[in-house]
Amino acid sequence: MNDKKENQDNKKDKVYYIIFAVVVLITIIIIALMLLNKSNNSDDKEIAYTDLITKIDKDEVEEIEMTVGSTSIKVKLKGEEEEKNAIVPSTQAFIELIQDKKLAGNSINLKQKPVSIFLRISDTVLNLLPTIMIVVLFILIFKMQGLGDKGKVYDAETEKTNITFKDVAGLDEEKTELKEIVDFLKEPKKFHEMGAKIPRGILLYGKPGTGKTLIAKAIAGEAGVPFISMSGSEFIEMFAGLGASRVRKLFEKAKKISPCIVFIDEIDAIGARRTGGSGAESENNQTLNQLLVEMDGFNTNETVIVLAATNRPEMLDKALLRPGRFDRQITIAVPDAKGREEILSIHSKNKPLGEDISLKEIATDTAGFTGAELANVLNESAIIATTRGHKKIIMDDLEEAVKKVTVGLQKNSRVISNKDKKLTAYHEAGHAIVSKYLETQQDVKEVSIIPRGLAGGYTMYKTNEDKYYISKTEMEEKLIALLGGRAAEKIALNDISTGASNDIEVATDLAKDMVKKYGMSDRVGPINLEAKEQYELQVFGNNIEDIIGVEVKQLIDTAYKKAQDLIIEHMDKLRAVAEKLLEKETITAAEFEEIFKNN
Ligand code: ADP
Ligand code: ZN
Repeated sequence: MNDKKENQDNKKDKVYYIIFAVVVLITIIIIALMLLNKSNNSDDKEIAYTDLITKIDKDEVEEIEMTVGSTSIKVKLKGEEEEKNAIVPSTQAFIELIQDKKLAGNSINLKQKPVSIFLRISDTVLNLLPTIMIVVLFILIFKMQGLGDKGKVYDAETEKTNITFKDVAGLDEEKTELKEIVDFLKEPKKFHEMGAKIPRGILLYGKPGTGKTLIAKAIAGEAGVPFISMSGSEFIEMFAGLGASRVRKLFEKAKKISPCIVFIDEIDAIGARRTGGSGAESENNQTLNQLLVEMDGFNTNETVIVLAATNRPEMLDKALLRPGRFDRQITIAVPDAKGREEILSIHSKNKPLGEDISLKEIATDTAGFTGAELANVLNESAIIATTRGHKKIIMDDLEEAVKKVTVGLQKNSRVISNKDKKLTAYHEAGHAIVSKYLETQQDVKEVSIIPRGLAGGYTMYKTNEDKYYISKTEMEEKLIALLGGRAAEKIALNDISTGASNDIEVATDLAKDMVKKYGMSDRVGPINLEAKEQYELQVFGNNIEDIIGVEVKQLIDTAYKKAQDLIIEHMDKLRAVAEKLLEKETITAAEFEEIFKNN
């Protein structure tokens, strides 16, 4: 079956080449003929208009043949067999001229021919033919280049990496687990002799940028084996069967250079649950089937470890996870504070850091950042330091880089109306004030009404530690803090705006999670109702969805009410913060706290 597919692919390529060759040949022949024709014409078959007039004057012309609407005429001279061609400037004037001559006794014979539709069409086609041929040629060239390019770009990339586990910060447990794979790649024989079964495929789950590719490369680097990689999306092809054939070629190559690591990024692009669909979907199925065939088809002497990465494990076809395929799964989490500090330290190795830099502090401020984002922060800080003319990266550059990466570039240039400014000031002050009076919420780090990214302003909180668990109280208070902006707008300005839309979105999602995921609502209880289909939900009673809705709404309503209460209670402080914001645009933690010390 494999061979058949291979032939099909080759055939497709061959057909393109044959068509191409034929078109080139025909084009060349036509152009050559036309050139020949032209040169014949210009040599002795052509007669110049002035010459023609002279000859007519001397009565040397036997016959003129004209076609209606054409300035190109045929001339038969007396005593000559062959007709000559000529071009007249104006047919009407020429006919009149001849008629005048005839009246004057000239023996010339004028033949006027109507154009037949057939002639007209064939003439047009003939005229257009070279253009058509050239267009076809171009299309074919593009097509073939496309094929060629794809062959190049989508060809699995093989590299010898010198990345090792040292280059991967954090992820200590994961590295320990994967060390076994490294040992196996180094000495497969030892393991086989012992009868040990080594995983064929390992699935890495994790957000983009968490270092999945990096750790896969590190395995190859540690073991000193080649690393072949391809992205799942590259397997999805316009041409049916190409995806499957790419998978086959990838594994052929892997087997040839084994022992090695095969890395398939975005495996969900091909490994999504199979459907009975047609077109792109069935193409997808073919590709997935081929992958399954390949995963099952290794010999024991072929030491190929397949690593695949995805951000959406729930999407994957269950068949991929069966024993002998991707039967081992490792979650690559977003780094914790220690991990972030290590990542920052690894990526700042080749950068000149000022004395005042505290990577620990930056790590504290970047909870939730992935490795890629942290690497980006350091890169941005280097750019910022350069534009500011610093010799080294100083803490302020780094902090600016964090902000830049967090909320997009500072948009000082955007003109904001005073009304908008006031609204933003009260909105942000609302977040800050409400959080200030909530036990579990983090301290305010910075409040600003300078727009960043899509937000009109922002309130930044200090992050003290990485938490693994969040209590219900904390979540409820988070809801209050999120709705503090809207509450302030409503109470202080007696109007509400779209500025709170993102807060509302986040709050709604959080409340939904509390009810459906964390079992935090009494009426629903500790049951997971996340991403359940209608029929699955029905097990919990016919009106479970109504209950969820009521519970979510209750959480939000309660939080919004509490936020308003807090705003009303601390109206003077809200005013003070908002005024300060309107004055200074950005206020620091110290300036914020100052307001509360005054009385
Ligand atoms: P993924 O494959 O999970 O999307 P990558 O492995 O491509 O992420 O990570 C992108 C970049 O982020 C890496 O090349 C590296 O520079 C940086 N990075 C991510 N995680 C780490 C980590 N744990 N240690 C060091 N650098 C990391
Ligand atoms: Zn807000």
